[in-house]
Amino acid sequence: MTMYKCVFCGLENPSEKARFCIECGPEGPASNWVVDEIDQPNKVNHYASILSDFYFEARSNDEIESFSLRIRERLKISHDTHSTVIADFAVQKKAVAHLANFKFEFNENVTDAYAGHDTFLDFRITNLSQDDAFKVALLWNDPETVDRVDFRADTKSFVRPRSSVTIGGSVIFDRIGIKELSDLLITISDQFGEKAVFRAEPLLKIFLHTTKFRLKDEAWLMQAEWGQTKATCS
Ligand SMILES: [Zn+2]
Repeated sequence: MTMYKCVFCGLENPSEKARFCIECGPEGPASNWVVDEIDQPNKVNHYASILSDFYFEARSNDEIESFSLRIRERLKISHDTHSTVIADFAVQKKAVAHLANFKFEFNENVTDAYAGHDTFLDFRITNLSQDDAFKVALLWNDPETVDRVDFRADTKSFVRPRSSVTIGGSVIFDRIGIKELSDLLITISDQFGEKAVFRAEPLLKIFLHTTKFRLKDEAWLMQAEWGQTKATCS
């Protein structure tokens, strides 16, 4: 007995006479898919890379599902392949989950911020884990400049469990006015070489000006914890 299985939603129809999926209907997304077009390797790769961005942003399963349906329809990705991709992501996420145990803060007290000159930025990383030591690297590439990586800083040694370090470095902002640091990448790696990259929410608005100014002495702004950050495995 051959059973009708919907390539789009995975539902099996026990009736031998079934010609379409009772869930998706006769005009369902996969009703006109030709076998050769389904799960083409380059499209599967493309699909996995689009979905990966979404998946690792710690979205809800419902959001991931409804987002994936739209892309699958366009790229002709079967339900089975989709399930494999998701299972693979879950394994990756679990493998790097311990690397998300950190708190990331930015010292808003940016003094001496002048356009065209070195501006010193100060960050603080707290390792919240019980037993993993981390190394941390920060990278920021300003979309307004094309010829250089604008900010790079890292911890030279491991940050011990339940301790904090500050990481500072200079950046040159080209123009006067309010500047937002968005898409700052935080790379966390452990003693075993396991690594995860997090993308911080838009950070710090720095006002660049022509005269010296000073804010509060200590103004640490908590910026990122797991859930607000985005991890991609590499
Ligand atoms: Zn279906």
